Amino acid sequence: MSVDPAPVYADDAAMLEVARAEALAGLAEGGIPIGAALFDADGRLLGSGRNQRVQGGNPALHGETSAFFAAGRQRSYRGTTMVTTLSPCWYCSGLVRQFGIGRVVIGENTTFYGGEDWLRENGVEVVVLQDPELIAVMTGFIERSPELWNEDIGVD
Ligand SMILES: [Zn+2]
Repeated sequence: MSVDPAPVYADDAAMLEVARAEALAGLAEGGIPIGAALFDADGRLLGSGRNQRVQGGNPALHGETSAFFAAGRQRSYRGTTMVTTLSPCWYCSGLVRQFGIGRVVIGENTTFYGGEDWLRENGVEVVVLQDPELIAVMTGFIERSPELWNEDIGVD
């Protein structure tokens, strides 16, 4: 009996759809609408997740760390791509560096600009797609919930 191989996501835009679905699910749950997904070198999904500050009461589970957690143990992260709907904060940029994730695809960096310059300076390939829907989702969220947003990015 053969097992169907996991589907291959053809390009960055296709991979972003997985992260977008997580972000929109988070929005529908009343959470912070940031999603992420980790893919292997062939474009196969390893794991996805979304910010769990509200739903899970867990400030350690950002979109990226949630996807990383869902992916489980990997022998190497060198060829992997972390796709996130929003520019990664310092905490999530640190995750990328700590585990040697080679590529980061960012949905948008206009509502928040995280550690992406630092990632580039240290050899990580960073791609920004500047997705209009994701910009609109984050802009609306920040306007509606400024205190929650400031809590998430560590602004007192
Ligand atoms: Zn983060």
